[in-house]
Amino acid sequence: MSLNTQEKIRCPGCGMLNDVTLWQSITVSDSEDLKKELLNANINILHCSECGAKALIPSPLLYHDEEKKLMFSFIPAQDQNQVLENFNSIKESSKRSGELEKLSGYNLRYISSYNTLLEKILIFDSGLDDRTIEVIKLMTVMQEPDKAQNRSALFGKKHSDGSIEIIIQDKSDGAVFTSRAPASTYDTIYTALRNSGVKTVSYGWEIIDRDYAVKILGA
Ligand SMILES: [Zn+2]
Repeated sequence: MSLNTQEKIRCPGCGMLNDVTLWQSITVSDSEDLKKELLNANINILHCSECGAKALIPSPLLYHDEEKKLMFSFIPAQDQNQVLENFNSIKESSKRSGELEKLSGYNLRYISSYNTLLEKILIFDSGLDDRTIEVIKLMTVMQEPDKAQNRSALFGKKHSDGSIEIIIQDKSDGAVFTSRAPASTYDTIYTALRNSGVKTVSYGWEIIDRDYAVKILGA
């Protein structure tokens, strides 16, 4: 079920109080329009009517796609300790409520950044596996190991020939560029993960990010 509340939220730029519809959960089958709004980064983002400033409202959002069996728990956090605390608390409350039994066959993701939330939706909408994409992102960044520390990677899109476009951002000089991994690379990594016992569904909440890929490639 998609749920929202009406809130008054102060603009961090000019202090003006704005009326905002704050979404707590979005169920895709309820409303494709809401999903589109989310992908356009218009959900839980304050657009100040006075000064035009845009700001993410730090509020949790549950994204549920019944057809694709996806549940993403988005709780914005930047600090790594806060991320772990949030992650542990959703795992605990899931255990207490017994909800995991109803979510068998699902992919469950805890997500702490808005960009990652949109990225995950796009990855699964493209019929791709996010574990494989994280490994490809890390491999792409590691092509220049001395620069890897300053670079972040995002899934761009899947091309019609099956190749995967990765967007690289370099924090040191602000450069943004794209890199493409052929479909065969995706297939090889996907198969290697399956053969090493990595499942395509979740048995609990998971964080699938760069650290996950580091562990997979290190093993
Ligand atoms: Zn403002």
